[in-house]
Amino acid sequence: YFRALEAAGTYLNRPQIEAVRHLEGPALVLAGAGSGKTRVLTSRAAYLISVQKVNPKNILLVTFTKKAAEEIKERMISFPGLSRQLVYDLTTGTFHSIFYRLLKSQGFHQKVLNSDKQKQIAVKMILKRRGLQDAYEPETLLSILSSFKNNMKTVEDMPSIRPVEKEVKAILKDYESWKQSYDYLDFDDMLLEAYFLLRKNTKLLTSMKQRFPFILCDEWQDTNPIQYELMKMIAKPSNHLFVVGDDDQTIFSFNGADSSIILNFARDFLNAKTITLDVNYRSTANIVTLANQVIKHNQKRHEKTLKANKHADQKPVYLRPDTTDEEASLIIEQVIKDVESGKWKYKDMAILHRTATSSRAMFDQLVLKDIPFVTFTRGETFYEQGIVKPVLDYLRLSMNPQNVAAISSILPSFYLSRDKTMQFIETQELINPEGQPLNQLLNLPRLKDFQRKQISKRLAIVRRLHSMTPMSAIKEIRKFYDKYLEADDRKTITIDKEMITETLAELEASSKKFDTVKSYLQFVDDIIDKNNQMARRKKDSDADVVTLMTIHRSKGLEYPVIYWIGASETILPHSSSLEADQRKDLLLPGEGRQKVDFALEEERRLAYVAITRAQQELFISSPSMYRGKPVAISRFLMKAYGTTTVRPKQGVQVQQGRKSKPQRDAKMVKGLVWECTSSVCFVWKRKDANEKTEDQRKKCPLCKSDMVLTEREIKTYT
Ligand code: ATP
Ligand code: MG
Repeated sequence: YFRALEAAGTYLNRPQIEAVRHLEGPALVLAGAGSGKTRVLTSRAAYLISVQKVNPKNILLVTFTKKAAEEIKERMISFPGLSRQLVYDLTTGTFHSIFYRLLKSQGFHQKVLNSDKQKQIAVKMILKRRGLQDAYEPETLLSILSSFKNNMKTVEDMPSIRPVEKEVKAILKDYESWKQSYDYLDFDDMLLEAYFLLRKNTKLLTSMKQRFPFILCDEWQDTNPIQYELMKMIAKPSNHLFVVGDDDQTIFSFNGADSSIILNFARDFLNAKTITLDVNYRSTANIVTLANQVIKHNQKRHEKTLKANKHADQKPVYLRPDTTDEEASLIIEQVIKDVESGKWKYKDMAILHRTATSSRAMFDQLVLKDIPFVTFTRGETFYEQGIVKPVLDYLRLSMNPQNVAAISSILPSFYLSRDKTMQFIETQELINPEGQPLNQLLNLPRLKDFQRKQISKRLAIVRRLHSMTPMSAIKEIRKFYDKYLEADDRKTITIDKEMITETLAELEASSKKFDTVKSYLQFVDDIIDKNNQMARRKKDSDADVVTLMTIHRSKGLEYPVIYWIGASETILPHSSSLEADQRKDLLLPGEGRQKVDFALEEERRLAYVAITRAQQELFISSPSMYRGKPVAISRFLMKAYGTTTVRPKQGVQVQQGRKSKPQRDAKMVKGLVWECTSSVCFVWKRKDANEKTEDQRKKCPLCKSDMVLTEREIKTYT
């Protein structure tokens, strides 16, 4: 069979075959990125059907995304001895889809509530009803509830001793009843309901056990406790549970994923077979070396080093642009060059970023330069999203106070109801078509004095905005939101607040190069228009397009060319994990330290995931300014290179890290140090060096590999 498989294009090495052939009892394949875990899983499902004559209906194959499940099935169709029909009979899907199907089969009729926004609005409404709208962040409350559910608990299990606990519990109970009254189930509920159902209904559980004697799971490192529990329930007592994963790729902790589940597998199942794979078949040697160097600095991990199988001289290319806008232009230049020369197609390339807002500049440039690309957001530009739109609408209003759509969009920031206010404005317009709709806000019925004062103060500001630079205008509007952002008391730092702050900072950054509000709005509208035109082209899934996505989203995927953007401090590692680091003195010893390391280690895993998506070429870009502030190269790279300090005074001195000692060469060229490590080459520039080095731009004098614009000034570096 394995020979036939190989002849059909799917070669497996020894440990992979061993994993595929494992028959009875639990097994774990614990192995690094690109080592063929998913290939093992696919081949195993095929092997069970073709060789062991297992009925495909008896196999449950769990993947992390719906798309991954489809791809696995598609691949299996071409395997020897399989037909479309046989593959079709497999049960595949994500945990949620599988258990939702189970619930439906048992007569559950609820609709799925999958919009975070909608959940937050519901909680906001409840808070308002209780007069607590300023006391809690909906997002925080929802994540508390979620973590309970991920651990098989309900709202009833929440503590209610302290007054705050009582209050939180009451709010969340209201939220649960709200869902019930509208017949909603959210993702967490699906798993929890399924769990309760299976516990209660032994007949159903038995039938699930009989239906699925073989369970296979991909991306096991990101399972959370309830998913684990469900799998265990169904697998018992034969425990034919076959899971594959990489603890270095646990990146969904915020969804309750817990890497100790994978690390404790052998402890939980005493007869478990553990198989490790250590050859990376995906990436070229230099990429694999860099990945190893990055991840080895994590403490909490199962130690493993990947060996490369693909050899190529090419090294990762390192970029240090000044800003994210320059980063975007450089990368697009490279993309265009490689497509025009026929080296790559658009679809061979993916651009990976850390957070939604950190891709703003990239998105803009892709649109402006007409590069076909897909994103996994709703396809809206940055400028049409959430809080950005009303801020821009303030600017639009200042250019044109008659802009009724813009008035409607800013109303929530005045705490005014949209429907009622717009109705009023329209009526007034009928009466007095010459009047300015914006002024009508002051004539709204039943306004309290302080409200009128607030409105007139803001309107006065709005009228001044058009004469300012767009950046100071945005700063001015930001003040409207500061009250909300600064309110603290019972709130903890939350993603919601962080998101708003980040988004507004990014908006400010986007306006920096414009002198007038008019030209800035022109730029924004241009992007929105072009993006709408492009949207039509994006529909086709086989289309030849560049992929722009978050690192989280890229899990399990591979592309010939990867551009990892924003490899700088505060972007990755993200500022929130650094804040945790700064607060470490305030934390209790032991636990506190763990929390801090935890946040940073998760960020490092993200860096590892980003690097290991690349098959042939990897570009890493570390902008030196981010949202107006100078930022150093990501510590994950610096540590990987073994570089700890640069002392500008003595020229540049690069110190070796204590632990790692990668092969390294360095050469001085007129105040520049060209550095070439085993996995990357780049240039240090002395602080006071001002020589132009145009001629050395393209090649590293040491390894002769191509370099793109690396002779950027690195200001201070410790
Ligand atoms: P990740 O951790 O990123 O999910 P993975 O361990 O699941 O990675 P796969 O996606 O299965 O790795 O494999 C990586 C690449 O290597 C794929 O293109 C796959 O087809 C190829 N591959 C896997 N095993 C072999 C092998 N034995 N020989 C040649 N190529 C292989
Ligand atoms: Mg995989």
